[in-house]
Amino acid sequence: MSSKISSALISVYYKDGLEPLVQLLHQQGVKLYSTGGTQSFIEQLGIPVVAVEAITGYPSIFGGRVKTLHPAVMGGILYRRDVDSDLEQAQKHEIPPIDMVVVDLYPFEETVASGASDEDIIEKIDIGGISLIRAAAKNHNDVLIVSSRDQYADVVKLLTEKDGSTDLADRRQYAGAAFRVTSQYDTAIQTYFNPAPVPSPLGRGEDHPRTAPLPNGEGTGVGLRYGENPHQQATFYGDLDAMFDKLHGKELSFNNLVDVDACVGLIDEFSETTFAIIKHTNACGIASASTPKEAYLNALACDPVSAFGGVVITNAPVDLETAEELNKLFMEILIAPDFAPEALDLLRSKKNRILLKRKPAELPSKLVKTILNGLLEQDKDNQTETADQFKTVTLKSPTDSELRALEFALKVCKHTKSNTIVLAKENQLLASGVGQTSRVDALRQAIEKARAFGFDLTGAVMASDAFFPFPDCVEIAHQAGITAVVQPGGSIRDQDSIDYCNQHGLAMVTTGVRHFKH
Ligand code: 5GP
Repeated sequence: MSSKISSALISVYYKDGLEPLVQLLHQQGVKLYSTGGTQSFIEQLGIPVVAVEAITGYPSIFGGRVKTLHPAVMGGILYRRDVDSDLEQAQKHEIPPIDMVVVDLYPFEETVASGASDEDIIEKIDIGGISLIRAAAKNHNDVLIVSSRDQYADVVKLLTEKDGSTDLADRRQYAGAAFRVTSQYDTAIQTYFNPAPVPSPLGRGEDHPRTAPLPNGEGTGVGLRYGENPHQQATFYGDLDAMFDKLHGKELSFNNLVDVDACVGLIDEFSETTFAIIKHTNACGIASASTPKEAYLNALACDPVSAFGGVVITNAPVDLETAEELNKLFMEILIAPDFAPEALDLLRSKKNRILLKRKPAELPSKLVKTILNGLLEQDKDNQTETADQFKTVTLKSPTDSELRALEFALKVCKHTKSNTIVLAKENQLLASGVGQTSRVDALRQAIEKARAFGFDLTGAVMASDAFFPFPDCVEIAHQAGITAVVQPGGSIRDQDSIDYCNQHGLAMVTTGVRHFKH
């Protein structure tokens, strides 16, 4: 049911961003009521506004603790416009209708995070604002509730489009958002009052706390058994249940979570059936194939030594024949989008093996880490170059098969610690050099590893996370049998590497995009 807004009560802590909404309401002939600070703000805009005291007949008392908590205000919001007895009572008690409520609550979490005193924090527990929100959301049949500054732009759009009216569906949607605001607000308050016990460094699985407040006071985290090492305390802040169904196994550790994160980032690069085995965030094996079993066996073949105790991920459902192979490996975790029932029965035979069924969940687009006395934040490296973006810089172009291998190598390279060199053939990692202090070291390590596991590098390709400052890498690669190279390019000595490739019949493509991962 569409209803026109005739009056609005506005009571906001932060006034920024409010002006366009107030201007619009004024233009649409809406009568505005407001509390002290908000009233002054609206008056400064030259817009008529009625003090809420004119409705209550009471001043704001007890230092603002009681401003809008009054039957006339609550009644004006809560009375049912379609119930005769409510209308009669509103008239009898001279309670004017309030058709819209706009509230920005006292910033409780921000005050906690600022390190304020307990007294200041308690004073920032909003009482009237919360009541206004709850009342308006409850009576969304007749009232529109705007419960967050984030909604101003959307509300302006809505009221402009609908010429100052709203539909029941709109009001219900805003009511839903309002209860989310009040629920989060109360969660923050209860977290402040009920802090979780600090994890004991000797804590055993069953003793460690289940929840702890976020460092900034927001939300809760899950206490982990310990951090990277047993003497380090640790907490996970997030919602693992939204990402995985845990089907079997022991609790996830700090290091497990770090590896699971790396697994997810890597596997999401691939659309064809792929298995990856991760150790300490780097892939020690990864392969794509037409069946899960083949993909797994090819991934394992890259480095069956490192695979021991690894974290395995696939983007394909695990069937019984693949599970039979997987069951032979000691692994910490297996992550898959699904498991055939017989496969699951078999994989559950190892008590501690963690089995995670991945759910489609959105991941944050930012990465954050602490450094020095602050934080660093950056966008995730979400860019992946494909063959059509490669620029051939040598006389020889890569063959189609080499191009596919270069694409594959580049995806793995992007998710491997710098400095790195990744050696691959079509759909299979052969070896990588990871986290080295020079790219030459990374290449030498990769070549040695590939040979140790029986790979002939003739016709293999090489991907580098960053450019080659000298021609030494292409020289060593050529001597090992590598025939095609992908790298970002951009070194002032690029031409030295290109010349070497031209003289020795290698193909090189550049991407123009560096993929450091430190
Ligand atoms: P103003 O700056 O307009 O004086 O105050 C706005 C703030 O007061 C808003 O954050 C609103 O949530 C809060 N508020 C509104 N009514 C009451 C009340 O009766 N008691 C308390 N403690 N806060 C209120």
